[in-house]
Amino acid sequence: MSYQIIKEKLDNRKLVILDGAMGSELEKSGAKMDKNLWCGTCSVEFPELVRKVHEDYIEAGADVITTNTYASTPISMKNYGLEDSIERFNQKSVEIAKKAIENSKKNIALAGSVSASGSYYKLGVKAMIPGFNEQLKILTEEGVDLIILEAMSSQADIVQTMIECSVKINIPVWLSVSCVIDDITKNVMLGYNDSMDSPPEIYENFENSLNRFAKLHKGPILIAHSDISVTGKAIEVAKKNFSGILGVYPNTGHYEKPHWKFADDVTPNDYLEYAKSWLKSGAQIIGGCCGLGVEEIKAIAVLKK
Ligand SMILES: [Zn+2]
Repeated sequence: MSYQIIKEKLDNRKLVILDGAMGSELEKSGAKMDKNLWCGTCSVEFPELVRKVHEDYIEAGADVITTNTYASTPISMKNYGLEDSIERFNQKSVEIAKKAIENSKKNIALAGSVSASGSYYKLGVKAMIPGFNEQLKILTEEGVDLIILEAMSSQADIVQTMIECSVKINIPVWLSVSCVIDDITKNVMLGYNDSMDSPPEIYENFENSLNRFAKLHKGPILIAHSDISVTGKAIEVAKKNFSGILGVYPNTGHYEKPHWKFADDVTPNDYLEYAKSWLKSGAQIIGGCCGLGVEEIKAIAVLKK
């Protein structure tokens, strides 16, 4: 476990392969999803299955794997009466991922996922700060190699607050946000659209967001949990407005609580073709989010040189 090899690849403009979705792969493997914490409980209830998903991603060619902590945010766990388990869930998730890396005998970097899941926007962004800090603290103390602020689906001020909390961290920080296309203006917007039941959430022009985030965040920015069809356009906008390293890990399918419904219209080979185009547009880190799993990561890993 080390970030050094990732840093060298990125500095030398090489492609880094990130893992794919955890939740939807766990669902495929038969793990039970929690109605509140989704796949967050799996690290404690199905540790073997979580480890197996990590191992499958390493085997498929991922250079970086991500802890199963997206859904175990302090604010969400407190809300569901699980405040006493915050440390345990997060620590356990790091332990499982480290074990998977150890078993592989490969030099794989471990990313700690700090998210805004369950961030209850109505409480105001200030109320989210202690939770962001707590999850950052637990994961860095447990020894992850980098942090991914998985701010996808979040409003710009939440993203900014997460960035502000992360600047004091002394390991590399990546940021992921999601994008949608505004049907009327056709502009790429910060926002998301992952449910069949509700219209897309559209927050602000992605250009503005990037300019704002780049003031404090110098690490890679990844367009994540966004539809494949939006991803290429979003990279183009990001390329013009952010001078740092870019990456992507899009979605396919949609969410119907507490399950991710798969869309089977994107084959691993299709995903490889998309990945080639994103690489050409300037993405240096490519992985997968909901609905994109081990087969897709295996398919795109051939792009590594
Ligand atoms: Zn996703």
